[in-house]
Amino acid sequence: MPLPRLVFATRNPGKVKEIAELLGGHFDVIGLDDIGCHEDVPETADTIEGNAIQKAEYVKEHYGVDCFADDTGLEVNALGGAPGVYTARYAGPAKDAGANMDKLIGALEGQSDRGARFKTVIALTGAQGTQTFEGICVGTIAAAKSGVDGFGYDPVFVPEGGTATFAEMDAATKNSISHRGKAVRAMVAKLKNGG
Ligand code: IMP
Repeated sequence: MPLPRLVFATRNPGKVKEIAELLGGHFDVIGLDDIGCHEDVPETADTIEGNAIQKAEYVKEHYGVDCFADDTGLEVNALGGAPGVYTARYAGPAKDAGANMDKLIGALEGQSDRGARFKTVIALTGAQGTQTFEGICVGTIAAAKSGVDGFGYDPVFVPEGGTATFAEMDAATKNSISHRGKAVRAMVAKLKNGG
């Protein structure tokens, strides 16, 4: 019997592979290009949850398949929860990770509260409507970049309980404590239970 198919609203083959492995071979996970979706999927909501739901429901509505989508934001205490939904474009539309981190380090200069958290929301469409799964990783923003692994804000994010940034950890260590890892595991637990 063919495996049940699950569409992930992403064009990142690394993300598709990671999820397929977490699902333990119980689902055939495919990306947007595999269903002929080559346009930009809209993400114009003003919350992380809203964007994840918007992306998953867009695919369901336009391509007639169940789908899940993720969205992540960095919420910084001293900035009132910013950049939040604007995390990727914090320093401008170029979505430049180095410029984003430089802007963040500058914004926190002289601040005693350097607390922050990453939040991922995954939205999954299905027979019972759209469900969401959340993963949060609490930490602090370092005063300077450190480490070479990972992507995005990894060189300045220090998850609580240690002194290393995400960029100083290998992928497995990061995934075991990260916002995205937690959200993915919550969805996987639900799917293995029959959705
Ligand atoms: P996206 O929703 O996965 O596209 O992420 C939105 C923004 O958050 C992008 O600027 C990413 O670089 C950043 N981001 C998401 N997850 C992480 C992470 O695990 N580490 C560092 N930056 C991240």
